[in-house]
Formats: sequence, structure tokens, C-alpha cells
Amino acid sequence: MHSNTASDQPTTKRQRDPNRPLLSIVVPVFNEEDCLEALHQRLTEVFADLEDGYEIIFINDGSRDRSAQIMRQLAERDPKVGYYSFSRNFGHESATSCGLERANGQTVVIIDADLQDPPEVIHEMLERWREGYDLIVGQRTKRDGETLLTKATSYLFYRLLSRVSEVEVPLDTGDFRLMDRSVVEAFNQLPERNRFVRGMIAWTGYRQTSVNYHRDARLAGATKYSFFKRLRLAFDAICGMSSEPLRWINTLGMIVTLLSFTGGLVVFAEKLIFGIGIPGYAFQVIAMFLLSGVQLLTLGILGEYIGRIYVEVRRRPLYFLAEQWDPRERHEGS
Ligand code: UDP
Ligand code: MG
Repeated sequence: MHSNTASDQPTTKRQRDPNRPLLSIVVPVFNEEDCLEALHQRLTEVFADLEDGYEIIFINDGSRDRSAQIMRQLAERDPKVGYYSFSRNFGHESATSCGLERANGQTVVIIDADLQDPPEVIHEMLERWREGYDLIVGQRTKRDGETLLTKATSYLFYRLLSRVSEVEVPLDTGDFRLMDRSVVEAFNQLPERNRFVRGMIAWTGYRQTSVNYHRDARLAGATKYSFFKRLRLAFDAICGMSSEPLRWINTLGMIVTLLSFTGGLVVFAEKLIFGIGIPGYAFQVIAMFLLSGVQLLTLGILGEYIGRIYVEVRRRPLYFLAEQWDPRERHEGS
């Protein structure tokens, strides 16, 4: 029988579950042929001495290069490797979600395939987990090899997100994090199709802490996130985490109404008191453009939420698997 500790202080003793490896490492992969071998080797080195075992779960998110081939080879060679392959590119968030569903470990780490997040940090995360924390996020103190624009917009994004979001989303964190099984199980129950994995994990609650790390530059290849894809993700994140933008519309509407009302009063007063006629059409044109702009913006934000509702009601699966190698089955089978 295990006891439930009701205190806020992390418990110091973790029970080992003998049916699970201690650690699952989930890696979403999209066109990373030049990184995979190096990643696998580095992970193997870093965790060679890990008691209680680990597994690596690769999710191939519809890569169009040799990534699939390389991952299949790795899975053949190394019984610790699991490999799941999507029928096409379903996106990073779907790939991560798939990994979290398939991971068997008592703790699960999400890591980029490009070695931007140093795997050595995972040892430190495991240490915090043993202390009793359920969610340990990697917080970037420094980021190499990313453009100023990326860094600046990402800085603004995290500040904006933490302002609007109802739960606390830690600042300057990526997907690199370690989760206890309880967090993973909670996450796997969230049914939404529009996904912002980091935010959803934060939403589950549980005892959180962070470890600092220095984010390296990509090992090879280019980022899979263009500026616009990033912007899209930011929008998804904000709309997914809060309905605050709908309230912005309200405020905007009130401000514009107030402005036009004051404007009307001024014009009326000028005419009555000073006898000045209403000046030309410039004012009207400006007002017209301003108002159409405001209306379009408003419709856009409304549309964003309607679009999300549409995606949710269709209830389509997050992904389709074209191929899978479950490390557990192979273990038992062979
Ligand atoms: N990725 C993915 N599907 C995509 C785009 C990216 O699985 O549609 C993976 C990618 O292979 C990498 C991780 O998600 O392992 C993060 O992508 P990337 O490193 O390009 O993002 P950045 O670190 O520049 O934010
Ligand atoms: Mg990266």
C-alpha cells in the first residue's frame, strides 16, 4: 500500500515501477537526417550508466529526407529505440503528443532532434524528479545560433502569453522538459485538436520547477519554424490558452465608440458655438478606414475562435501511423 502525502513539500522518496523504464526520451523528427545518428550516439553515451533503463521514442513527422531510413536502422540495431512514423507531416505538436502517448517510462523527456537542448541536463532534471518534483522545465538562459528577430519576438511572446493565460506558463522555456508519469497521463487525457503542448502541460498543474541551461545552436540543418509558422504557433498558443483576445475586441469597440462620440460632440460644438462648418472629406475618409480596419481585425479574431471550434467539432485524429516499432513488444517478443 502506498500512502498519499498531502503536503506541498516534495516527497523525497520515489517508488520505482519495475514494469517501466526509468526514462523515456521523446524526439519529434522532421527532416533531421544529419542529426539523428549524432543524437542517438550522444544519448547512448549520456545514459549508458543510467540504472533502471531508458528508451528513446522517435516520432517521424512525415520527413522527406533519409530520416525515416536512419531511424528504422537505429530501431533495428538498438532495442532501446522505438520508432513511430506518421503518414504525412502532421506538425510538431502532434508528433510530441504521439510520443507522450507511446512513451513507457516512469518519467518522460521531450527533446529536439537537433541537439539544441543538451541531453546532459536531463540528469539534473532526474535529480529534481527524485526530490519529488513532477514537472521540470528547461529554462533557456542563453540561446545560440538564433536570429535577433526570433529571440526578440520569442521574448515578447512569452511575456504576452503569461499576461493573458489563466495558468502560469514559465517564461523562456521550450519543449525541453521532464515529466513524471502522472503529468503524462494527465496530458494524454486532454482531447483538443488545436495544441500548444507546453501550455497544456502547464495547465495540468502538479509540482513544477525549472533548471537553467544554455541552448546551443542547431547541430545541422535549418530550423523548421519560419517566422510565419512561429507567428501561427504564437497565435494558437494565445487563443488556446485564453479567451482574452475576445475581450480585447470589446475594449477596442468601446474605445472607438468613445472616440467617435467625442469627435461628434466637438464638431457639433464648433458648428453651434463658433459657426465653423464641418471641414471636408479628409476626416470622413480617415474615420472610414479606421473603422473598417477595426472591424476586420475584430472579425479576424472572431474567425480565429470559430475556426478553432470547427476543428474541434470535426474530432479528427491527431495523426495516422504508417509504421511502428514498439520497443516493449520487441523486447518481449525476442
Ligand atoms: N519538428 C517536427 N515537425 C515539424 C517541425 C519540426 O517534428 O513540422 C521537429 C524538429 O525535427 C525538431 C523539433 O520539432 O526536432 C523542433 O524543431 P526546430 O528545431 O526546427 O525548432 P526550433 O528549435 O528552431 O524552435
Ligand atoms: Mg531546434
